[in-house]
Amino acid sequence: MAVSTLDLQSTDSNEIISRNPATGEELGRVPAANAEEVNAVVARAREAQGAWGKLSFQARGRVVMRARAIALDEMEEIATLISKETGKPVSEAVLMELMPSLDLMQHFARKTEKMLRAEKLNIGLYASLGRTSRIAYQPLGVVGIIAPWNFPWAIPIDEVVMALMAGNSVVLKPSELTPLVGLKIGEVFERAGIARGVMQVITGGPTTGAALVDARVDKIMFTGSVATGRKVARAAAEHLTPVVLELGGKDPMIVLEDADLETAASAAVWGAFANAGQACASVERCYVDEKIAEPFIKRVVAGTRALRVGVGTSVDADIGAMSSERQLNIVAEHVADAVSQGAKLLTGGERTDNRDGFFYQPTVLTNVDHTMRVMCDETFGPVLPVMTFKTEDDAIRLANDSIYGLTASVWTRDISRGKKIAERLEAGTVTVNEVLYTHGIAQTPWGGVKQSGIGRTHGRLGLLELVSPRHIHVNRFASVPDLWWFNYTPRAGALFRSFARRFSTGSLLQTSLLVPEMMRRFFERRRK
Ligand code: NAD
Repeated sequence: MAVSTLDLQSTDSNEIISRNPATGEELGRVPAANAEEVNAVVARAREAQGAWGKLSFQARGRVVMRARAIALDEMEEIATLISKETGKPVSEAVLMELMPSLDLMQHFARKTEKMLRAEKLNIGLYASLGRTSRIAYQPLGVVGIIAPWNFPWAIPIDEVVMALMAGNSVVLKPSELTPLVGLKIGEVFERAGIARGVMQVITGGPTTGAALVDARVDKIMFTGSVATGRKVARAAAEHLTPVVLELGGKDPMIVLEDADLETAASAAVWGAFANAGQACASVERCYVDEKIAEPFIKRVVAGTRALRVGVGTSVDADIGAMSSERQLNIVAEHVADAVSQGAKLLTGGERTDNRDGFFYQPTVLTNVDHTMRVMCDETFGPVLPVMTFKTEDDAIRLANDSIYGLTASVWTRDISRGKKIAERLEAGTVTVNEVLYTHGIAQTPWGGVKQSGIGRTHGRLGLLELVSPRHIHVNRFASVPDLWWFNYTPRAGALFRSFARRFSTGSLLQTSLLVPEMMRRFFERRRK
């Protein structure tokens, strides 16, 4: 059976066919919303936001917790749907999508109020003039979420929950490869009793996504490739719509000579091949100290050969099908390019015998260098290229030699050395003796540096992307005009110069010397 890329990525016609990439089975058909429909959905979201934004955090949290209970109740059914639409093993869908999002839901349902409590600011000497300042956080309005296919449940639902808890209404556009999982998120909230219009899902491809960016929402949370992210940023700039961009990665793993070899090798195998390597934080480059390279690589190859590739819904698959033929072709091209330039293929390197679906064997390469695409471009598939280094500085230089900067990891028993190296690596998240999983920690910020993105999601930093900070400044001396208001007499001019010399030092002592001059100016203004 041949599955055509066109069928799976049907985008701009007014219907999308969702298929299982492991079997080619048709899973369902959904409409592709046009610009007019998108605008209508956004208008409905705007209308609904007012009442939702006025609800207490507890009331919003109750809706999220009801949605959580429904998702937990239907965990197997949802995980199976995710597996069928993406190809990943059902257990992996539970581990990497449901478990972390269920945790995130309870965390933000319970903690958003505290995280968004108004903050008093320290305004230095202005406080001595009877002033106070605080920041109050208001909802933005309508948040548009554009999601990828690789974690079609966890990525959008996390952002939906955070945006809703912050008091926004949400319009979600899932990937055209995984529309049914996107619609399931909408269904869960609907059954949780969310008011009409507060959380809506629109299905469609790039044209629908572009229409959402153009619909003058108050923020776009985009997750996807660098190329699309650039288009989204350009289009959003037209209306000055703020964007958060969560983009691609080429994440390095550095294995130092004192690392626990067994643990580091299993981490490399899981970090590179979980989700068939289609995670933005997958290990895409491994740098190992040449002194331990041989035993490390031997363990990595043995671990890789032991992996079972199979249909995600069968109980014994470690690695499922890749999600699309397009992605599989990119992987094959990267491997072929590397091999043609002298890379050594230690295992894998081709599609599996099962030609019904998009299966690619987990692949380990050595003799690689930074002239090869497999070490520079995002592969986004089950390929682990391993390169050796001589010194710590070499390893850091190689790891930072990339346009990307999403995550990186360092492996060593010397934790303080690991932390020092972590600070020198150019990435949004650096882990020491850990790999891949921190997107799953709701409390920690997620996002990249360099071309891996702009802004953050998750944690308090992510929540702050979804609110509008209002600075509220109060002068408690309600009947006293400021000394710097008109008119500018010579005495006023002299006082301003004293302000510049003394007040601006930040010293209370220096400022107190201004009191007589300030009093003279005060009476001068009163006589006016
Ligand atoms: P993609 O860029 O092809 O598509 C992402 C989404 O954008 C889809 O919903 C798509 O329909 C939509 N889209 C396409 N063109 C658009 C346009 N012009 N305007 C608005 N929307 C448009 O990405 P993908 O292939 O779905 O996902 C894989 C990529 O996502 C990889 O590069 C991966 O690294 C990245 N990713 C990043 C993170 C992260 O957190 N940084 C997480 C997951 C995936």
